Amino acid sequence: MLIIFLGAPGSGKGTISEKLVKSHNFKHISTGDIFRKMIKSKTPLGNKLKNLIEEGNLVDDETTWEVAKETLENSDLKKEKLILDGYPRNIFQAKLLRKYLESINFKNVKIIYYNVSDKEILERLSGRRMCPICGKSYHLKFVKPKVKGICDDDGGELYQRKDDMNVQVRIDAYKEVTEPLIDFYKKEKKLIIIDAEMNIEDIVKKTLEVTS
Ligand code: AMP
Repeated sequence: MLIIFLGAPGSGKGTISEKLVKSHNFKHISTGDIFRKMIKSKTPLGNKLKNLIEEGNLVDDETTWEVAKETLENSDLKKEKLILDGYPRNIFQAKLLRKYLESINFKNVKIIYYNVSDKEILERLSGRRMCPICGKSYHLKFVKPKVKGICDDDGGELYQRKDDMNVQVRIDAYKEVTEPLIDFYKKEKKLIIIDAEMNIEDIVKKTLEVTS
């Protein structure tokens, strides 16, 4: 099964995925994580995309599709429950993905939209902190580590993602190019909407229900 996670930055897609991977055997692929890894390991593409991504802008469709397609080709969609997080990000990407899935005759696709208000998104993103070692995310107010500024799991010193410092740019990009996807999938009668302001356990439970 392919499960497409839609939602504004900060809607909790990463945290929900983390729980589904840990306890329910899902596989999680985030195009954003792939780009961040490329930047960290200073690959030629990573070096090229560094500034653009850190300023909160979107990567071009061709590059992103190469990354997403490689991921899909390396997955066994018939056996795995693969969460695709961060792709598609606009209608053009959605059409590319649809074409690809049609070409391999794959139909078991769920599209979940995690709905959160703008006010909540701003608060979540500006307080988010990450562990540089394991990638786990915390929040200054909502998900505090046991020791301030330190990851519970490996002692990594928490930091703020550079693109979280450009929250407004990311929200604007989301509203302009990604939000129209909601109507796109609604028209196809494929969209599953989950209220992502519920507590995390309920969100995970609901996600499990719709993907069982
Ligand atoms: P995310 O972690 O999903 O917020 O992604 C971080 C950044 O990676 C985004 O702000 C974009 O610069 C880039 N990115 C990830 N996925 C895509 C995509 N499907 N299309 C364009 N840019 C993307």
